[in-house]
Amino acid sequence: MKSIRFRLFAYMLIFVSITLFLVYVLQIFLLPSFYQNKALSRVETISNRMETPLTNIANNEEYTQEYNDLVLYTRQNNICLYAFDDSAILKLEANAMGSSCYLHYLIKPTIQSYRDPSPIMNQYMEMVNQQESKSYYFTVTPNDQISSQLFYAQRFVINNRNFYVFINTPYELLDSTIFVLQEQFFYISSGVLILGIMISLLLSKLLSEPLNRLSKTAQDLARGKKDIIFEKGGFLEIDTLASTLNYATQEINKTDNLRIDLLANISHDLRTPLTSISAYAQLIQDISGDDPVKREKHLKIIIEEVEQLNRLLSDMMTLSQMQSKTSRLIIEEFDINNLVNRTIESLKATTSTQSIMIEKVGKISKKVIGDEVKIRQVIMNYLSNAIKFVGEDRTILVKLIEIEETGYARIEVIDHGSGISEEEKPYVWDRYYKVNKNYARVQKGTGLGLAICKAICERGNYPYGVLSEVDKYSLFFVEIPLSKNGDRNE
Ligand code: ADP
Repeated sequence: MKSIRFRLFAYMLIFVSITLFLVYVLQIFLLPSFYQNKALSRVETISNRMETPLTNIANNEEYTQEYNDLVLYTRQNNICLYAFDDSAILKLEANAMGSSCYLHYLIKPTIQSYRDPSPIMNQYMEMVNQQESKSYYFTVTPNDQISSQLFYAQRFVINNRNFYVFINTPYELLDSTIFVLQEQFFYISSGVLILGIMISLLLSKLLSEPLNRLSKTAQDLARGKKDIIFEKGGFLEIDTLASTLNYATQEINKTDNLRIDLLANISHDLRTPLTSISAYAQLIQDISGDDPVKREKHLKIIIEEVEQLNRLLSDMMTLSQMQSKTSRLIIEEFDINNLVNRTIESLKATTSTQSIMIEKVGKISKKVIGDEVKIRQVIMNYLSNAIKFVGEDRTILVKLIEIEETGYARIEVIDHGSGISEEEKPYVWDRYYKVNKNYARVQKGTGLGLAICKAICERGNYPYGVLSEVDKYSLFFVEIPLSKNGDRNE
């Protein structure tokens, strides 16, 4: 596996090489032909622009402005230009090349004054006339010239008279220019190469350093170090990774603490009834064995403790089954009103001895679909908690609400006791979580009731939750899907 540094370096090198190669091909190889095309198109442009001044000349009109523009253009583009009428008399001249203009040598010695025709031009004009198109060009490499020359000629017909424009311009870049370009290219490529290497080194350092730091911290985490923080590192992606790893660390620590708590809780909850059983058994053996009243009392306590142990072990089993998903849910249609009635009924003994009223409100018109036994356990746990935490009104409300929009039957169990604070709410579903840590065993909870409810609801996909206000009320709910097969059977 290659390191980031190596890869970045390699990619940058490839990128720089390709760029330089393209620049080189364009500059050095394609430049001459590019230059020649440009030279031809410039010459064509200027020749086409000659129509106006020639028309002015033919009509004996003013053409100074056009002429000035022409001179400027020839200067900018290193061009020389001569225009003749059909009698080979020079009509217009714009020479930016000075003595290196080839036409200059051809024309100038043949004419004494501007009114004389240039006999040599007749032969060139004849050449132009023989062409099919009105314009024509050729290139020559004269012996005494350093670079090859472009000669261009165009014929204009103005007022039924022929006018001829002859143009000459260098057709090739000078070797010295190419040499300068090559030299420039060498400096530029060296600079770009050095810059590219520096950027790739800097980038790889910026990238690999925070990643190396993260991997070192992760190694510390694997070794069991707890108070670690994954540092952020200048890039959004690395920052996100660091945040995710920090979150994962928090969760790992939480699970670790939960595991420790769980073991402590289980051993504590098992030991307490066992100690009590052993103490009372000892009492019976040593003291109350012959006293039927005392013996009865002590035996009753032993039986209660055994029941509590039994409850605890069976809760633990249910929870582990639900969480490990080994037990299968038995999904069937059933009457939820009936189930709620039966559950309330089964608690009658407890509620009547404690003078607690369970009030049922509402009715579900359809059957529901779910695991009846498991749903009964959820409602039972909600009700048992409501009994434990019942308020001064000693009333528990059970509401049955049919939610047509979502297609669910909602069961709410409400008491007006201590309530649960906003901070505690998310935790009440955790195993062995007790809002009031001191109430311990007084209320005979196993500390697993809501954890079992959560496991059942998540397993069966039943929406569940709690709403509460401290010292006002607690409302625990579960929602079960309504059957689509019409009304329930009465
Ligand atoms: P426990 O056996 O301790 O009742 P649960 O899992 O059933 O265990 O409940 C967890 C915790 O949630 C309880 O200890 C209590 O602090 C809180 N709780 C549950 N139901 C209620 C309620 N109706 N009112 C107030 N607090 C409640």
